[in-house]
Amino acid sequence: MRKGDVTRKGDVMRKGDVMRKGDVTGKGDVTRKGDMPSIQEGGKMAAAEPDTDQLSSPGSEFLNFSAKDTASRWLAAADLQQEVYRHLAAYVPRILCLGPSSSGGSSREGQREEQREEQREELAYQLLLLAPLEWLLLREEPAAGLAQLQENNRPSPLCGHVFKVGEPTYSCRECAADPTCVLCMQCFLGSVHKEHRYRMTTSGGGGFCDCGDAEAWKRGPYCQKHTPTDRHTEEDPVAQLPADMVARGYSIFSIILKYAVDLLTCDQEEQLPAGLEPPERGDTYYCMLFNDEVHTYEQVIYTLQKAVNCSQKEAVSFATMVDRDGRKSVRYGDFQFCDQAKSVIVRNTSRQSKPLRVQVMHSSVVAHQCFALKALSWMGQIIQYSDGLRRILCQVGLQNGPEGENSSLVDRLMLNDSKMWKGARNIYHQLLMNSLLMDLKYKKIFAIQFAKNYRRLQTDFMEDDHERVVSVTSLSVQLFTVPTMARMLMVEQNLMTTIIRTFVDHLRHRDLQGRFQFDRYTAQQAFKFGRVQSLIGDLKYVLITRPSEWTNQLRLKFLEGLDAFLDLLKCMQGMDPVVRQVGQHIEMEPEWEAAFTLQMKLTHIISMIQEWCSTDEHVLIDAYRKCLSALSQCHCGLPDGEQPISLSLAGHTVDTFRYQVSQDKVSIHLPVCRLLAGLHVLLSRTELSSRVPEQLPLGELSPPLLIELPLRCLVLCAQVHAGMWRRNGFSLINQIYYYHNVKCRVEMFDKDIIMLQAGASMMDPNHFLMIVLSRFELFNIFNSADVRKRYREANKDVVQQNNTLIEEMLHLIIMVVGERYVAGVGQVEPFDEVRREIIHQLSIRPMAHSELVKALPENGNKETGLEGVIDIVASFKKPGVTGRGLYELRPEWNKNFNLYFHHYSRADQSKAEEAQRKLRRQKGEDTALPPPLPPPLCPLFGSLVNLLQCDVLLSVEGAVLQWAVESSGGGWTESMLQRVLHLVAMSLLEEQQQLENNRDDDVTFNYTYKITREAPSPSGSVLALLETLQKAPQLEVHKDMITWIIKMVANIKTMREQTASTSTVSVCPGHGAEETVRDRDKAERKRKAEMARLRREKIMAQMSEMQKHFINENKELFQQSLEELEASTSAAAETSATGLGPTCVTQVCVGPRRVGRAEHRQLVTCILCQEEQEVRGHSRAMVLAAFVQRSTVLSKNRRHIVPDPERQEPLFMHPDLSLGIHTASCGHIMHAICWQRYFEAVQLKEQRRQQRLRGHTSYDVENGEFLCPLCECLSNTVIPLLPHSPDHSVNHPTLEAWLNTTNQQIATLHSAHRKQSDGTAEEAEPAGEAEPAAPEGFRVDFTPQSPFSSSIREMITTFSVSTYKVGLKLNPNEQDPRVPVLSWSTCAYTIQSIERLLMEEEKPLFGSLPCRQDDCLSSLTRFSSACWTVAPLKTVHTHFIRLFTALFPDSQVENTPCILDTDMFHLLVYSVLSYSSVQSLDQSGCSVVDSAHLHLLHLVTVAHLVQILLTSTTEEVCMDQDSEGSEEEILTCQLYNTLRKHLGSVLPQVSSGWQLWRCVKAGILPFLRAAALFFHYLNSTAPPADLLVAGPGHWEALCSFLSLPSNLLQVHQNQHTLLEPLIYRWCCHPGVRQTLQGGGVIVRFPRESNRLIELPEDYSVLINQASSFTCPRSGGDKSRAPTLCLVCGSMLCSQSYCCQTEVEGEDVGACTAHTFTCGAGVGLFLRVRESQVLFVAGKTKGSFYPPPYLDDYGETDQGLKRGNPLHLCQERYRKIERLWRQHGIAEVIGHAQEANQTLVAIDWQHL
Ligand SMILES: [Zn+2]
Ligand SMILES: [Zn+2]
Ligand SMILES: [Zn+2]
Ligand SMILES: [Zn+2]
Ligand SMILES: [Zn+2]
Ligand SMILES: [Zn+2]
Ligand SMILES: [Zn+2]
Repeated sequence: MRKGDVTRKGDVMRKGDVMRKGDVTGKGDVTRKGDMPSIQEGGKMAAAEPDTDQLSSPGSEFLNFSAKDTASRWLAAADLQQEVYRHLAAYVPRILCLGPSSSGGSSREGQREEQREEQREELAYQLLLLAPLEWLLLREEPAAGLAQLQENNRPSPLCGHVFKVGEPTYSCRECAADPTCVLCMQCFLGSVHKEHRYRMTTSGGGGFCDCGDAEAWKRGPYCQKHTPTDRHTEEDPVAQLPADMVARGYSIFSIILKYAVDLLTCDQEEQLPAGLEPPERGDTYYCMLFNDEVHTYEQVIYTLQKAVNCSQKEAVSFATMVDRDGRKSVRYGDFQFCDQAKSVIVRNTSRQSKPLRVQVMHSSVVAHQCFALKALSWMGQIIQYSDGLRRILCQVGLQNGPEGENSSLVDRLMLNDSKMWKGARNIYHQLLMNSLLMDLKYKKIFAIQFAKNYRRLQTDFMEDDHERVVSVTSLSVQLFTVPTMARMLMVEQNLMTTIIRTFVDHLRHRDLQGRFQFDRYTAQQAFKFGRVQSLIGDLKYVLITRPSEWTNQLRLKFLEGLDAFLDLLKCMQGMDPVVRQVGQHIEMEPEWEAAFTLQMKLTHIISMIQEWCSTDEHVLIDAYRKCLSALSQCHCGLPDGEQPISLSLAGHTVDTFRYQVSQDKVSIHLPVCRLLAGLHVLLSRTELSSRVPEQLPLGELSPPLLIELPLRCLVLCAQVHAGMWRRNGFSLINQIYYYHNVKCRVEMFDKDIIMLQAGASMMDPNHFLMIVLSRFELFNIFNSADVRKRYREANKDVVQQNNTLIEEMLHLIIMVVGERYVAGVGQVEPFDEVRREIIHQLSIRPMAHSELVKALPENGNKETGLEGVIDIVASFKKPGVTGRGLYELRPEWNKNFNLYFHHYSRADQSKAEEAQRKLRRQKGEDTALPPPLPPPLCPLFGSLVNLLQCDVLLSVEGAVLQWAVESSGGGWTESMLQRVLHLVAMSLLEEQQQLENNRDDDVTFNYTYKITREAPSPSGSVLALLETLQKAPQLEVHKDMITWIIKMVANIKTMREQTASTSTVSVCPGHGAEETVRDRDKAERKRKAEMARLRREKIMAQMSEMQKHFINENKELFQQSLEELEASTSAAAETSATGLGPTCVTQVCVGPRRVGRAEHRQLVTCILCQEEQEVRGHSRAMVLAAFVQRSTVLSKNRRHIVPDPERQEPLFMHPDLSLGIHTASCGHIMHAICWQRYFEAVQLKEQRRQQRLRGHTSYDVENGEFLCPLCECLSNTVIPLLPHSPDHSVNHPTLEAWLNTTNQQIATLHSAHRKQSDGTAEEAEPAGEAEPAAPEGFRVDFTPQSPFSSSIREMITTFSVSTYKVGLKLNPNEQDPRVPVLSWSTCAYTIQSIERLLMEEEKPLFGSLPCRQDDCLSSLTRFSSACWTVAPLKTVHTHFIRLFTALFPDSQVENTPCILDTDMFHLLVYSVLSYSSVQSLDQSGCSVVDSAHLHLLHLVTVAHLVQILLTSTTEEVCMDQDSEGSEEEILTCQLYNTLRKHLGSVLPQVSSGWQLWRCVKAGILPFLRAAALFFHYLNSTAPPADLLVAGPGHWEALCSFLSLPSNLLQVHQNQHTLLEPLIYRWCCHPGVRQTLQGGGVIVRFPRESNRLIELPEDYSVLINQASSFTCPRSGGDKSRAPTLCLVCGSMLCSQSYCCQTEVEGEDVGACTAHTFTCGAGVGLFLRVRESQVLFVAGKTKGSFYPPPYLDDYGETDQGLKRGNPLHLCQERYRKIERLWRQHGIAEVIGHAQEANQTLVAIDWQHL
């Protein structure tokens, strides 16, 4: 079991890899019942029935059996074991594993039967098997006995809580001894570390809480709960138990543990150990299938279906069980029956790989194994009650058996570990953790046994194919991370050496020289290589804590271990050598990853070994010697074929040998050299080096040999950069990349530089440089002018290569002299090194915390040291609602910037250079980037500075400057010059520093002298060359730097002259007081030029911004939320401009007094053809791209069951609004014809594409989806643009008159319909019923002329049918009478949802909507008012009649819903919109439409008032107001009392009219607001000024806008006589009484807006919640991907086979299935383990979204990889909520998928 799981692996979801199908490996689950209920597989039934008869009546056994008596009998027996065995032999096979129960397998009945069977089995097992054992142990009633034990127990302070999968674990980054030390949540919250810098992870299961382990924590080892109370005594806990119990404990534990071990370790399929043979033996067998890591789920499922004839579902269940428990019986029956299944399975799986393991086992063997596991768990539980019993069990387990060494029961278990199945291993591992690891004394003994068997256990593990979590070897983390234990094992068991030797032995691929060779290794070997790496992890545990004290023994063993380690490194030294490929490309990329993996894994070990060495001088010196001799062994074969040569330059001569990187073998792997370099630095840090350097073991190897191999490696990198190794392919490029990468560089590149520094400091600098020149193959270029000339004439490639090489070489020299930030090389602290890294990272650009962490090397404790320095060098900028927090370098640190910082890549370097220059320009400074002052060198490296002034370097510098002056041909680059200038500047700084520090004449460093006097080239001294260059026009960029240098030279001269006069003011050129007027002028001019340049840049940027593609701008627009959009509305703005000042005229939007908008020509432009056109009824249709979706955002009842779409009746919307249809539009207008052409093109493209990439788009063309051609917004239909038809009605009948007319009209229509449908037959008998008199001018047979052109009619139909298709999920059917209803429905629902949105955001009702929504609502409303024109008149009439009867209940019309089941706003919208169809038949010429609308509004308002009063909760009666209330209050009371009269006691008595009125007012407000929006868009009425601003005082404005009295009750009061019968009829509907009495869902008003669920502030609370969440389908198993629905708060078991459900004929994961019930196909989830928000729409679409949780650095942690504490960011959560409320999820998904194509390929439906 891993300890808390610090190394999270594999199952973190990778993008693009959501459901890894072939993934059989499950995380080992620790706690498990030892159950194996079998599943009936149908087919032939078990032949062995006889047993069942006996066993079906265990009841009688229960009655006659006495556990107490049995225990007494056993105790009296001579041979206890024999007695117990006899009992087990008789009972175990009769209780456990009786095969499948007889009823059908998967049916519900079968399942229930199975459950009963399980319960029976469990009960029998408790009473017949466990109870006697407990009685035997306790000699009393077990429950009482155990309680007694626990009471007397003095528990150890160890917490030992074993982690569940996914449980949060905490580690303190300040106090934990190592990162594997973790706390459980409980302990953490009660600990001091809560206030520290802690890390949070989720456990992979297994491992336990380290609270109470003093060694695990530097501080605060105990939480409040586990603080030891009475100086915990070292007393033996066994002594606290009664002696007889101790004796009984020994014997019982011995018998049971031995029994369990015998059964689990014997590999018998038939035979039981002696004494356990069953009394009678039937022919009953199990066919047992075992898990392996080779076969996939699919293979297993397929095979099982074939072999045992089961359904797919059963097969999945078998496979899941096999994966989880490691084995599962798949068939029960006689031997032949089982054997047959076995052979089918073996045959089917043996083709490509070794077959699945299957055994046919006798049922009694299985039963005993099953009991053995239960017995182990039982012991594990018992010892929890008493530390004494725990110790007894430990003793029993570790006692050697008769066979002596390694024969204890625990040894036997361990050594058989790899042979056991997963479930058995888990259970005994758990027992080990509960017993041995919790007892400090026996933990040690166990650790020794473990270490003794180490090699064998590891070897078994290599052969075993199970994951490491389920291997006993994974216990190493529990043992080796305890520092005292690790030390003890190292000394006594030579653990370090054992681990390393075992590791080396398992890596057998070597070449002739004994080096590792990984090329051509097989998959099998690769697998083994993967497993063997876990040994490095063990080694790391052993070394993770440095010893504070050394004993001689420890020194000895450590150095022995080091020997072994050096042997390992020697096998790596020089591995994977490369040879430059010339002519042809390499044919095959050589394998390189294995070697680098090894290097990477060992990096921390190498660092740790150096740390160990650093703590003891003796060890350090011995280690250095050993390393040196290992290196000389490696060098033995070195000079083979390398002839000695002699080189001369600038008057110096050196001997070396001929070797060329470009021709000979070279290797990147030089771990021995690098370890030596590391040790060398450590030596330099010791006191010895400064006191008695001659005592150091230096100089046994010649410096030229020391530098040789690292130099070759660095030259290789340079040559690769220069493009000389192109033909060697990518593998080499990758290797070079990793060589410099932060993961490897500490023990690769960095150490190579150090080795060069060490070598150079021990050599004549001229010799060193000549060897460098020679290895770079540049010697000749600098040697003679002649070669130089020839080289310039050579081909261009060669010239370029050499240029790059010269640049690289100069850079290398800069690094060798200048890199002094390693403690030991320079006089610095480790702190300085980290600070410098950060400064240089931030010099590139401001960075987030995580980026910085990634850029810094981590040590073994996963620390970078970042926290210690970051606040000194950087300031933190908090993030906004998007983005993340950034660190910015404080300006005072800019002077520490070094352009040639050794960890910069070339790209980093140029970015940093640009950023720094820009910064200086902004500040008006010159742009010279001189090197910063370096720290002083340590004595051992002191002579490095001589490199700077040596002859060879001067000659190189001179040569480059000379070329720059000549500036002809291609043999020179500015980069070269820049590097040389940098070197010159470094030399000058060195000289200045020495002068300042020494203040006397014996400063030997005299660079200024050398560059002034000496003349290395015909053109004069270096200084003279520089002065020439200063005037060169082509070198503008470097001018500032040259000026800096020349000034510096002058300063130094002054200093040298002034040395006598002791004034030692540090002079810094360019910034000193001596800045002349000329300089200032120049600066001023420069500043002006700079300003002009900035202005130009700004203008350019503006222009390019404008030119940027429209899409980009718009994408931004969509991401902005409502509030960020300025309040730009077309309608409101336009009308106020027409002069009708809304302030002076009372605006009314409905009824006879409504103010219409003047005739208004609407001109629009088609985005596709750019043609302008007016919107008119008879012109070509114009359309808006739109997206229609089902919505549950407003739902007040998520459990509402959606009826069968065929039978769904949408005419009346239930007030729970459980499912609506929402329409949105991006507002982009096209010609219908243009859109059709566009859509056809999209379709065609998709069809062509489908053969190869089926459905790889973010939109589903087959479902009519497309992207808006302008903004790429997801759309699935278009809304036609219709003109506003302003027809003011002339007549204004009263309500009564209008009602009469309407009733007459309805009656006429009724009879006409009846006639139509009955045909002539009915006409024959015109019974007494008189033809109703039609009102004047009302002509039933009239067919109104459509006001629209055919193309507009077509578009009206298109949109209507889309709402129908989406709303009902049916195939389009224009004839369906429900088509117009759905069009009205989406109009009403969209208005309602926008009203809610405005309310929630506290926006004014009018004027705050963004254009696109305003346009959408306006066209949607106009469309809805016209959609009846394309439907059959009769259909619309029928709808109107039904709607009307809801207001005027008519006993003749059936199916009228009761008033409580109707959403009044929907009713209003539908009836207003359908009324036009009735009105259209009126040919009298006196339109009454306006009055009709107003009357309808009044009626519905009254109905709504009644509805609100009926449902108002009036429980809280606050202070009764006796005083007469306002008129409103009195009228409200009156109405309420009327209702009580009709309904009686169903309604509670309410005395407070004030309260009622308040309820009513609040309840009806949303309705009024929605109605105002509706009529505003319907009649194009400008809104009153009061409603254009947010704030109070809207009630009056709203009422008057709607032509309602502000005392709403007057509407009722004024028409009292007319309305009274209506109210009576509403109340009499049986549904009302029924609902009020609790027979239905009561929706109360105002309906509260839905919000996303509350999330906890601290993320770990969520993790904890999720960790206790179990999969609802697989009986208490932990869910692997617990996912939280943010809408309703359900936790789901996502991304797993177990919880797949069939939705519309397809298996989908839990999330997708949930969206269909909770969100009508749209869902928002939080994947708790990943800390990631998931958006899902439908089955195929989804995307991830940043979670609303941030760490202290303002960053999210998607995947929970960093483990910083996370806290809820309310603003971000509100932003997600707003997206949801705005119905924007689908759109966000669409944009995300367009932006990132890999999202399209994910199988979202499996989540
Ligand atoms: Zn704990
Ligand atoms: Zn604790
Ligand atoms: Zn702490
Ligand atoms: Zn067009
Ligand atoms: Zn658009
Ligand atoms: Zn939900
Ligand atoms: Zn599940």
